[in-house]
Amino acid sequence: FEKVVKTYPGQGRPALDQVSVDVEKGEFVFLVGTSGSGKSTFLRLILREYRPTSGRVYVAGKEINRLATWTVPRLRRQIGTVFQSANLLRRLTAAQNIALPMRHARLSDAELRRRVADLLERVGMLHRADRYPSQLSGGQRQRIGIARGLALRPAVLLSYEAPSGLDPDTTRAILDLLTELRDDLRVTILVITHELDVVRSIA
Ligand code: ADP
Ligand code: MG
Repeated sequence: FEKVVKTYPGQGRPALDQVSVDVEKGEFVFLVGTSGSGKSTFLRLILREYRPTSGRVYVAGKEINRLATWTVPRLRRQIGTVFQSANLLRRLTAAQNIALPMRHARLSDAELRRRVADLLERVGMLHRADRYPSQLSGGQRQRIGIARGLALRPAVLLSYEAPSGLDPDTTRAILDLLTELRDDLRVTILVITHELDVVRSIA
């Protein structure tokens, strides 16, 4: 972010005011702020759901607001997202949830199965592949959410208010997993949260 200002229509005070932040490839960065501090706005600007009022946003070296509209889906595929409670589809198993982002990727069945198994293994969930979300713990659901976020091999994994609502040990385990994934996959990780406790122990 380079001097990014975002003012919503009809609002006097900007939601983000001259925000500059540099995240390097392979970094694990926490962005912490109380409610109303602009976390959601920040997220939407990275995904180009909103445009900044002024300033520049770069993802993987490209100024994203100069990209042609038709390339925006490609931009978004470079950014895997994980949300609180992981937003899994209830009627799909863990494996099917992970496969979901890959449905347009034109992979053979064998390649798809191989990729899903690899992701399940990376997040330690190979033994829960056929469970439905309701049959998983909160921590396990977040693991599946992380695997799904990585499905399209993104350059950046954006975790929004996740981990969240988990006990300290489970939170710790999820953060350890993210660190491991960062090291193994060289994916940049951005955790956006209002829970300072999530950050305090690790950052
Ligand atoms: P957070 O996610 O950290 O709670 P937001 O990015 O949602 O913060 O909001 C930042 C500021 O922008 C707040 O003051 C909020 O009221 C304002 N805001 C957010 N979305 C809109 C919108 N669509 N229209 C007007 N103001 C908004
Ligand atoms: Mg928010």
